[in-house]
Amino acid sequence: MDFCCGTSMIGRLAPLHTEGGAVLTDVPFLFCPTCGNTVVASDVEFDVTMFAHYCETDGVKTASVFDVIERDRVQAILDEYPSRPVGLEYPSVTAEQLDHMLDLWNFAREMGDELWRNDIRDALVRLHKVRSAERQPQSQT
Ligand SMILES: [Zn+2]
Repeated sequence: MDFCCGTSMIGRLAPLHTEGGAVLTDVPFLFCPTCGNTVVASDVEFDVTMFAHYCETDGVKTASVFDVIERDRVQAILDEYPSRPVGLEYPSVTAEQLDHMLDLWNFAREMGDELWRNDIRDALVRLHKVRSAERQPQSQT
């Protein structure tokens, strides 16, 4: 189980754009709901890296990682990292973390991943609530 910022990460399938211009779909990413850190799930990182290299070498533009990774393995990752963790707490939130989440939200929007976008938006709303609660009330000018 991978952790970031002391919280468990969220699993999500998303397309991966490789440096060589190929697009791999159905890549299991882990995403930290606190800081927005996003990485390919370590269980399949090697397979994804090799497959990306193969696609770039062969000039394949788009391919699903399900061609080389069994769906059961990917599903096991998603089961281990549920997309909606229960009772998640945000002890402290910085403006930088909020900025990072907004970047990620834009990234999800560019990829057209509606579900992920909604998850990030939900996380942003929760982060914002924590941040607002930390602040002393200030009058707007
Ligand atoms: Zn994090």
